[in-house]
Amino acid sequence: MKFDYLVVGAGLFGATFAYEAKKRNKKCLVIDKRDHIAGNVYTKEESGINVHVYGAHIFHTSDKKIWEYINQFAEFNNYINSPVAVYKDELYNLPFNMNTFSKMWNIKTPAEAKEIIEKQKAEYKIDEPKNLEEQALSLAGKDVYEKLIKGYTEKQWGRKCTELPSFIIKRLPMRFTYDNNYFNDRFQGIPMGGYTKIVEKMLDGIDVRVNEDFFELKKNGKLSDGTEVEYDRILFTGQIDEYFDSKFGPLEYRSVRFETEEIDTDNYQGNAVVNYTEREVPYTRIIEHKHFEFGTQPTTIISREYSSEWKPGVEPYYPVNNDKNNALYEKYAAEAKKEGNVIFGGRLGQYKYYDMDKVLMAALDCVEEEFGK
Ligand code: UDP
Repeated sequence: MKFDYLVVGAGLFGATFAYEAKKRNKKCLVIDKRDHIAGNVYTKEESGINVHVYGAHIFHTSDKKIWEYINQFAEFNNYINSPVAVYKDELYNLPFNMNTFSKMWNIKTPAEAKEIIEKQKAEYKIDEPKNLEEQALSLAGKDVYEKLIKGYTEKQWGRKCTELPSFIIKRLPMRFTYDNNYFNDRFQGIPMGGYTKIVEKMLDGIDVRVNEDFFELKKNGKLSDGTEVEYDRILFTGQIDEYFDSKFGPLEYRSVRFETEEIDTDNYQGNAVVNYTEREVPYTRIIEHKHFEFGTQPTTIISREYSSEWKPGVEPYYPVNNDKNNALYEKYAAEAKKEGNVIFGGRLGQYKYYDMDKVLMAALDCVEEEFGK
């Protein structure tokens, strides 16, 4: 079989590329080493509940074109992410907003909150934050940092807050209004029926093979059933360092492990996302999947999320974008430029902490670069 493109990875990046390529009459073969499509946005229905198998995904964007683009493939509900944080026996609203501050300091007005934060900030004399700790302290002061950020971040990243880049904490809004919306974006929601259906639609009419290992195919020129395949170009959405056999040394990633269970109650925690921000609780958060779609099923499914360092054999989720890894990535990126017929894309291929909307943007940019406007 002969193809214009071999697309490695059936996640959002690969599927978007393949969909657009097909529109331009290009023939793609999409392969994935897992036994299903949709990458980490994969959702699976269990007991009538769409379970976010590789962690919670909430679509949000400020880009109208991207919102319209994804809406071609699914109807979105009006879910607004408003996580709750549990610190010891205290409970706070996220992101950091007037609900959080009034609970923390028993105050009512933005002026009172600002005064406390300014006072706490002043103790540290930070002009230009050099790391996540300094960034968090200068944004929100000591109490918020110690109760809601430090333990959670060190669990999630397995590194001290002083060793992490400040951009990670800037992902979260900080506002002096009583507004628990975790995102500032104009558009937000969960696709009704789950994310897998989106990717199914994108890949409709395209050759897709799951349980296929790219490196085996590259070596043998054959799929696992013996079919010989040829292709002109490759879109690779796996780990860029693995592609180059880690010749400059391995990039670091974080992995996540989920302990998922069905519980015989219709409502376990009253919210889709509850973060456990103290260091001593071993998991970072508990997801109750039904609440993403306002489910009324008689039972519920929850996932406790445990963070760990990535090692071969487990799934990579997050690139660790500190200076050391970014410098190493640049070496691989330079190597990638020399690989004439290979494009690298997605969180793993571009080693970037992309949200879903940014993945779509990057994939559409890639399409434009490949095929013109
Ligand atoms: N974060 C935190 N406390 C929380 C939630 C998030 O300190 O209760 C910080 C933490 O450093 C985390 C970052 O904010 O890595 C980004 O969180 P986000 O929810 O965006 O992470 P994701 O959903 O991508 O895992």
